[in-house]
Amino acid sequence: MSDPTPIENEFFGSWSEFFMTMAFFVGMKSKDRLTKVGAVIVSPNHQVVSVGYCGFPRGINDDIDQRHTRPSKYFYTLHAERNSVYNALYVGASVKGCWMYTPWYPCPVCAQTIIQSGISRVIHYYDRENGMGQETNVNVDLREPWAKLALESDQMFCESGVMTEKFHGKLYRDPIIQVCNGVLSPLPEEEARP
Ligand SMILES: [Zn+2]
Repeated sequence: MSDPTPIENEFFGSWSEFFMTMAFFVGMKSKDRLTKVGAVIVSPNHQVVSVGYCGFPRGINDDIDQRHTRPSKYFYTLHAERNSVYNALYVGASVKGCWMYTPWYPCPVCAQTIIQSGISRVIHYYDRENGMGQETNVNVDLREPWAKLALESDQMFCESGVMTEKFHGKLYRDPIIQVCNGVLSPLPEEEARP
């Protein structure tokens, strides 16, 4: 086994792996038929404050096929990152100073929400430069535009002081990821923890 990275030793330990794995697991619940994304918000002392996945707002009928097609889905679907913040608000929990774990680099609208809610750090699994849909066959057409959007998110995070961190650990359970692989992206075999 290779030595853990310094950032794992100094800041994350196994908590980072635990919460990132949880973000993928939560994403499995996504109502979005194409994109399964989850987000987990945790306090500085490792308490889960909120989770969210892609889906319609409460009470909105998500059985109508037309609402799942572009461009309608853009107006009906809440991204996981925003949903996790709103779910915290729904139960009166503050996310100020919390960290968010999520697979993809947040889009600009989610970045605004993250900044304005007081979240201090975003840990993302996929590279920002590759944007959403890295290595996936499903979202190839979105890859380049999303990468450009991610640059706008990055600019806002930099100016606001929200830290972003590329995830460097291992995911705990490769079966969870395999379920998501149909719509996300396959992971190299060596990245899966036995
Ligand atoms: Zn978003």
